[in-house]
Amino acid sequence: MTAPVRLRPEIAALPPYRQGKQASPDAFKLSSNENPFEPLPAVVEALHGALHVNRYPDAAAAELRQVLADRFGVGASEVHVGAGSVSILSQLLLAAAQQGDEVVYAWRSFEAYPGLVTVTGATSVQVPNLPDGSHDLAAMADAVTDRTRVVIVCTPNNPTGEIVTTAAFEDFMARVPETVLVILDEAYAEFVTEDDAVDGESLTERHPNLVVLRTFSKAYGLAGLRVGYAIGPAYVLDAARSTAIPLSVTEPGLRAAIVSLEHEDELLERVGRITRLRDQVRQSLIDQGWDVPRAQGNFVWLPTGAQTAHAAEVFDRAGIVVRAFAPEGIRITVGEPASVDKLLGAAQEVVRTL
Ligand SMILES: *Cc1c(COP(=O)(O)O)cnc(C)c1O
Repeated sequence: MTAPVRLRPEIAALPPYRQGKQASPDAFKLSSNENPFEPLPAVVEALHGALHVNRYPDAAAAELRQVLADRFGVGASEVHVGAGSVSILSQLLLAAAQQGDEVVYAWRSFEAYPGLVTVTGATSVQVPNLPDGSHDLAAMADAVTDRTRVVIVCTPNNPTGEIVTTAAFEDFMARVPETVLVILDEAYAEFVTEDDAVDGESLTERHPNLVVLRTFSKAYGLAGLRVGYAIGPAYVLDAARSTAIPLSVTEPGLRAAIVSLEHEDELLERVGRITRLRDQVRQSLIDQGWDVPRAQGNFVWLPTGAQTAHAAEVFDRAGIVVRAFAPEGIRITVGEPASVDKLLGAAQEVVRTL
């Protein structure tokens, strides 16, 4: 009889990663908050120019970091680039937290957080959202103890869509000790249209313990190329660089990100089309009787509660692949305009059964 390989029990107990369901060819895949637009011609051209794949990429991502530093008005050492912002999140958690430490974040929030915390050996402290789906920042500040090393704030919150306001965030930062790292995860920042929303761009260098995370995956439509970035204190980002797996950001990713920033107006025009469609979809859902939280990302949240599994099936049959978080609700990406009629038809069918 062979004995099993001895793994860390808390890692072996983690559920294996499950990607948003692959859609059948005629269904709309609205389960991963992807951008429905094809890459810009300039991005495709840049990719063709980045095919010297026998060479390693620039490990320091120097050019992209400088472009981002100029735009955020910080030094290049205060910018870090990773293979998706999820990578940077993992690097920061590994740099700050270990066994015996605690990491505080809201729940329900981004599904990657619990696993990333477990990998560090630290313990997750999940603070329930308020009934409107927004972070309970007062309770999150209350949850900070001597053991807390990191607090993650996700705005707009994936999957509920609600934002953190500037005022609430300032109050929160005033209550969190400066020795605790605060990560502001702004993966959907470019889709925000509410004036009172916190904006990490205006906060960098104002708080010595704050790192702002952004990504090229959502608004810029480069999810498949894996590029995200962080703005924050140089010594904290140096620690993230130390825990990073070297050379995991590829040259095509770096080129595409730089070209995307050069063509930002075109990309933000697309973002504008998505946010207008988002607002229309949300209003139509409210007219149907749904209680939809303020949607500030590229997705809407339907609080389907105990009906979540059933609701996901109805959407699936209608050719709409959604992300179900039983027993709370369903997250639906605002994608192709052609998906909207099917989406609203299925939502109409479900709302009657609630
Ligand atoms: C999509 C997402 C990310 C980042 O994704 P990457 O593709 O790794 O950059 C980070 N945080 C949240 C909340 C997200 O929804």
